[in-house]
Amino acid sequence: MAVFDGKALAMLIKSQVAEEVKKLNKKLKLAVILVGQNPASELYVRNKEKACSDVGIDFELIRFAEICKQADVVKKIKELNRKPEVSAILVQLPLPKHLNEREIIDTISPDKDVDCLTQANFGKLALGLSDFAPCTAAGVLEILKASQIAIQGKRVAVVGRSALVGLPTAHLLTKNNATVALCHSKTQKLKKITKKADILVVAIGKPKFITKKYVKKHAVVIDVGINKVDGKICGDVDFEKVKKKAHLITPVPGGVGQITVSMLLKNILLLNLEKK
Ligand code: NAP
Repeated sequence: MAVFDGKALAMLIKSQVAEEVKKLNKKLKLAVILVGQNPASELYVRNKEKACSDVGIDFELIRFAEICKQADVVKKIKELNRKPEVSAILVQLPLPKHLNEREIIDTISPDKDVDCLTQANFGKLALGLSDFAPCTAAGVLEILKASQIAIQGKRVAVVGRSALVGLPTAHLLTKNNATVALCHSKTQKLKKITKKADILVVAIGKPKFITKKYVKKHAVVIDVGINKVDGKICGDVDFEKVKKKAHLITPVPGGVGQITVSMLLKNILLLNLEKK
């Protein structure tokens, strides 16, 4: 059994990005749009700002009130699309219910879409035409590669099919020649599927939902979930019990979350390289 060290890999990725940023003959800048004052989103945005500052990437936060108009957000994104000094745009999700999230995301120019959520960029990923992927999904792949886990030919179960995490993770792992079962809330006999998985990725937002009964002996378990229970952060996996059974497991906190932020920095760099 091994517990993945998210901090160590995050530091390594960040130092690699910082080196690359230094070599560029222009400044990179991330613009983040934040609507409302959701405490979790506020925290994620602060983490992104700090990560950018650590590697020498400029950061701009554009705030909108919770009750803002769709047209104003769209207009702002169009302005950011035109600004040459803005290399990457991210809309912090979730957005308030009255806004049309799909329209807002698709307003981002694909060459500034750092989260790979526009139809254009996500479509390329789904067709296997590009490895550019949403940061958390890219992070899952990075963790497996850094931990020298073979992917080709392996049975993978991804639990959760959101556009942000589960679905792109399934696409990336399929592209890397795994055989992927993509599971969700309507999946029947989930345990039967997850128990066969050599690699189990869980992103459902249900604290400690995955107990050891769901896990194959010596499986690799990647816990994407971030939940707050009684003021403490935990994942979607019952870490203490499952770690005894797994070959490798990612802790929460200190696992995937650490890597997601560093993959955001890497994606900013990748967008810049693709423009050349
Ligand atoms: P989401 O959009 O709410 O999607 C949840 C997914 O889980 C849905 O596909 C849902 O199925 C599925 N699901 C829910 N209950 C289930 C069950 N009992 N059995 C099987 N599938 C079930 O959430 P998300 O944005 O993907 O986030 C998932 C978790 O990851 C959250 O805890 C979030 O905070 C965390 N997260 C972490 C990071 C990170 O960097 N570590 C990044 C993003 C998100 P249906 O599609 O059928 O509804």
